[in-house]
Amino acid sequence: METIHTVQWMKQITAQARREDRVIGLVPTMGALHEGHLSLVRAAQKQCSPVVVSIFVNPKQFGPAEDFQKYPRMLEVDRAVLETYGVNYLFTPSPEEIYPAGFRTAVVVEELSERLEGRLRPGHFKGVATVVLKLLEIAQPRLAFFGRKDAQQVRIIRQMASDLNLDSEIVVCPIVREPDGLALSSRNAYLGGAERQAATVLYRSLDAVRGAIAAGERNPAHLLVALRQVVASEPAVTLDYAEVVDADTFEPILDLRKTCYVLIAARVGGTRLIDNALVEPKAESFEVTL
Ligand code: AMP
Repeated sequence: METIHTVQWMKQITAQARREDRVIGLVPTMGALHEGHLSLVRAAQKQCSPVVVSIFVNPKQFGPAEDFQKYPRMLEVDRAVLETYGVNYLFTPSPEEIYPAGFRTAVVVEELSERLEGRLRPGHFKGVATVVLKLLEIAQPRLAFFGRKDAQQVRIIRQMASDLNLDSEIVVCPIVREPDGLALSSRNAYLGGAERQAATVLYRSLDAVRGAIAAGERNPAHLLVALRQVVASEPAVTLDYAEVVDADTFEPILDLRKTCYVLIAARVGGTRLIDNALVEPKAESFEVTL
C-alpha cells in the first residue's frame, strides 16, 4: 500500500489507473477505523481495483463547539490495518493540502442539508459536500462507498453527484453493529463504561419501532411514541431528534407507504450518536432493516 499526502500525486495515480481502464474504488473516511469502515473497504475490493481509502478529519464539517480537536486520530494503526487488508492507496492529505490559503468555494445541497442533522449542526453538510466533491474530483472513482449509518449524508451526496453530473456511482453499504446493537462509530471511543451500556438505547428504540411495525402499527406518530418511551428509560441519554422521514425527501411522513427512514440522534453524556432504521414496503408488510 502506498500512502499519498498530496492532491497532485493522488490525481496522477488515479489518472494512470483510468488510462489503464481500471475500476477505481474510493472509500472516504475520517480514520479511527472500525468494522463499519472495513465493511466499505471489503465492498470496494469486491468490485474495484485499485481501492483508495482516504483518511481526512475534515475541519469544515465540525462546528466551533464540536469535537474537531479531540476527534480520535490514529493514523499509524489505521495504516497498518489497511495494509493487512491489501488496500492499494491510502490518501491522507493535510488540512492545508485540501484547503490552501485563499480557499473560497463551498458546495450547498439545498433543503436536504437544512433539516435534522443539518439543523442541529449548521454548516455540517456544507463541509461534508465540499470535501466529498473534492475527493471525488481528485480520485475520480468509478464507485465511491458510503455507510447507511449516515443516511442523510448519503442522500445529500447522491443528490450532489446527480446535480453536478459526476461520473462516480455512490454505493451505500449496510450499518455494521456491535453484538448488542450499538452502531459502530469512531465516537464510541468517547463512551465510558456506563455510557457505553446506555448508548445501546438508540438501537433498542429502533428495535421497538420494528416490533411495533411488525405488530401492525402504521402511524409514524405512534411509532415515535414507542421509540421515545424506550429512550426515556435511559436518563443518561438526551434525545436530539427522532423522526420518520421519506427516504427521498427526508421530510416527515404522515403514514407508512413509501420507503422511509426512522432517524434518531441522541447525546450520551458529551457524546453525540446517530442511528437509523430503513423501512421498506413489501407485498404484505414492511421490512425494517436496522
Ligand atoms: P466517518 O469516518 O465516520 O466519516 O465514516 C466514513 C464512512 O464510514 C461513512 O460513509 C460512514 O457512513 C461509514 N460508516 C461509519 N460507521 C459505520 C457503520 N457502523 N456501518 C457502516 N458504515 C459506517
